[in-house]
Amino acid sequence: MKNIAVIGAGTMGNGIAHSFALNGFNVNLVDTSEQQLANALKTIERNLERQVQKNLITTETKDESLLRIQTFNSLSHAVTEVDLVIEAVSEASKLKQQIFAELDKLCPEASILASNTSSISITEIASYTNRPDKVIGMHFMNPVPVMKLVEIIKGYSTSDETYQKIHSYTLALNKTPVLVNDYPGFVANRILMPMINEAIISLFEGVAGVAEIDEIMKLGMAHPMGPLQLADFIGLDTCLSIMNVLYDGFKNPKYAPCPLLINMVRAGKLGVKTGEGFYSYDKGSKEAKVSPRFT
Ligand code: NAD
Repeated sequence: MKNIAVIGAGTMGNGIAHSFALNGFNVNLVDTSEQQLANALKTIERNLERQVQKNLITTETKDESLLRIQTFNSLSHAVTEVDLVIEAVSEASKLKQQIFAELDKLCPEASILASNTSSISITEIASYTNRPDKVIGMHFMNPVPVMKLVEIIKGYSTSDETYQKIHSYTLALNKTPVLVNDYPGFVANRILMPMINEAIISLFEGVAGVAEIDEIMKLGMAHPMGPLQLADFIGLDTCLSIMNVLYDGFKNPKYAPCPLLINMVRAGKLGVKTGEGFYSYDKGSKEAKVSPRFT
């Protein structure tokens, strides 16, 4: 079971491709945007080089890993001979529906179809296929090459056999699988995202500024990154999508996304990936300065 495909070459897709290639898997990386594919390859090379500099891997391992990744701009030739597909396209139900229906037609019958969704129901995603027993959530954390956790989500019909295989894949990546059930936001985002949303509400209501809110959570709660910077890092569009899934799923106003978050997404201020969110970022750098908008 050495051939896999990753669909979507954005923030998460490139990290997932990196981790599998580094651990000996052949990876077909698919994105409809050639620019995203080119950026992903550059990012993977840069991040592998960082691991070389830290003496975590050799230059030879880096070069071999890069050779295991092939890029494709459509699904048709990329998924016909793979054992596992990990979908990491944008967090939108309609898009996932279209991708899973297509994957179901194109992939070998035995292939497992996993989604890296942060919050969309795995049971719903499985319903777009004729193999709901082989559909599962494999929720990686950002940045994938560094973070150890993979939250594994069993949908209503996911089989034990599928879960056992995904458990083994996760261990093969030197990561730790933790199994949860399929309810809105699963566990990681059900807890994390309301905290981020509350930080945005605190800013929106003028309780404190960007730097102060983040400083309080870093120094006071020993978080390595403040919630507003973390939101920029995750992508504000992704944060908003997750809040909407929690709000729709639980029908509870405590999950309503902050109007400031909604406005920032409408304005295209999505965080690190667009160069501005709560902080500003120079191109290619993750160094954060509070955005002039909030100073
Ligand atoms: P992103 O916006 O960085 O990347 C999404 C990619 O999907 C883009 O490159 C886009 O071109 C591509 N895409 C869109 N339509 C496509 C199609 N039809 N076929 C192939 N590629 C297509 O998003 P991301 O942050 O990498 O998030 C991807 C998934 O991972 C989402 O479901 C998100 O919820 C989840 N996730 C994100 C994070 C995070 O910190 N960003 C963490 C865990 C899980």
